[in-house]
Amino acid sequence: MAENSKIAWTTHTFNPWIGCTKVSVACDNCYAEAWDNRFGGERWGPHAVRTRTKTWGNPVKWNRQAEGAEERPRVFCASLADVFDNHRSIEKAWRRELWTLIRQCPNLDFLLLTKRPQNITRFLPDDWGDGYLNVWLGCTVENQAEADRRITHLTDVPAVVHFLSMEPLQGPVDLWPWIDSLQWVIVGGENSPRYRPADPDWFRNLRDTCAASGVPFLFKQWEGRNQREIEAKGRELDGVVHDGYPPRTC
Ligand code: SF4
Repeated sequence: MAENSKIAWTTHTFNPWIGCTKVSVACDNCYAEAWDNRFGGERWGPHAVRTRTKTWGNPVKWNRQAEGAEERPRVFCASLADVFDNHRSIEKAWRRELWTLIRQCPNLDFLLLTKRPQNITRFLPDDWGDGYLNVWLGCTVENQAEADRRITHLTDVPAVVHFLSMEPLQGPVDLWPWIDSLQWVIVGGENSPRYRPADPDWFRNLRDTCAASGVPFLFKQWEGRNQREIEAKGRELDGVVHDGYPPRTC
């Protein structure tokens, strides 16, 4: 997997393990499953075994490089798994070691993004308290049903940043009930040969809700069949590039 991520909102991507199970319509065209299938990994689905990676040294290296830097690098964890997946093949020791690694890397902000926010609490370390200063917790929300189902699970957990990744956006979403509990909203269309078109008004409404509440808003991309097609469309929404981020947390 790539050491330096192509995902606009993160500096690095770290996968402690690989494998997952589809849980909602945002997973329909999961690029990670397609990647795994290409290499014969067979790590997707409820009966498939997740495997630990050999890239655990990378965050330690990035942390060393970030010493004294003005900008804090962001580390997306994970792009080829869901870090709060409760699958039995994910060993308790892996989770323990992941929290240890995060504690050992205070110069990095870890972005733990999940589609299973209902599992977050049971997998937090004992010393979580009000949240580690270098951990931002996020969940994916692709439509109103998932907003209703997921967001309260996320915002009920103490954290220095609660964020949403609303990609691939699949319908209009009213964020007003939760907006004051959120510190960052990322939105975007689908990147897939089988992409499902988004209505620009879905993005506009989210932009306007965030602006009215002072929540940083990042418009990541329009939808398209591949990265080249998406980049050709640019990142403007009504002539403006929205690149909002939460303020530093440490
Ligand atoms: S949660 Fe993420 S990694 Fe898991 S199947 Fe869904 S899209 Fe793929």
